[in-house]
Amino acid sequence: QEGERLQKVMARAGMGSRRACEDLIQQNRVEVNGEIVREQGLRVDPAKDEIKVDGLTITTQSHLFFALNKPAGVVASMEDPDGRQCLGDYVQNRETRLFHVGRLDTETEGLILLTNHGELAHRLTHPRYGVPKTYLAAIQGPLPRDLGKRLKEGIRLEDGFVRADHFRVVENTGKNYLVEVSLHEGRKHIVRRMLAEAGFPVERLVRTRFGPIALGDQKSGWLRRMTNTEVGMLM
Ligand code: URA
Repeated sequence: QEGERLQKVMARAGMGSRRACEDLIQQNRVEVNGEIVREQGLRVDPAKDEIKVDGLTITTQSHLFFALNKPAGVVASMEDPDGRQCLGDYVQNRETRLFHVGRLDTETEGLILLTNHGELAHRLTHPRYGVPKTYLAAIQGPLPRDLGKRLKEGIRLEDGFVRADHFRVVENTGKNYLVEVSLHEGRKHIVRRMLAEAGFPVERLVRTRFGPIALGDQKSGWLRRMTNTEVGMLM
């Protein structure tokens, strides 16, 4: 028999479990070379056949890239031995092993990338590559005028200096401030420690960018496939 079963190719492309892909076929949502697939068990050649789900071509490349908006309280690991909510809960039924790219504190929210490209995941978190990351932090004012300058000049922590690449006040009600901080390193709790050391303990922390990838208005707890353009920028 030539080719591979359609639902298997779809599952590998990140469309869900084989069972979920069979459901998509059953619901007439899948097209191969422009024809809606009306039976299960069709065999396809992933290199030649064009497969669409809901009118969108799926990429059958074997590397998968996802962006998750991690809610607060979710442990940033694929599994948690203590049974707490973790990243693995958001990517169930995948046919391939996924890695998270770097970490976020359990209480920190926002963008975390997931991929089965282990080598790239490793490279993107290596200090040598210094991928810039951007965070929104809620802190209490009033803020000194020179806070941005101080953060950019560097704050001394017990494990060495940390410098912000960029700082700006996003929102300000006189008391509650929302500030944006970018930096290109990934030491544990680095943003919280940096701002606390400067005198401003962080009340809420959200990562909004990781390198070229932005969280945008993606809802909390939602996982999305990265676009080919985004994947291209990351590689
Ligand atoms: N800095 C922090 O303090 N926490 C994170 O999760 C990421 C950066």
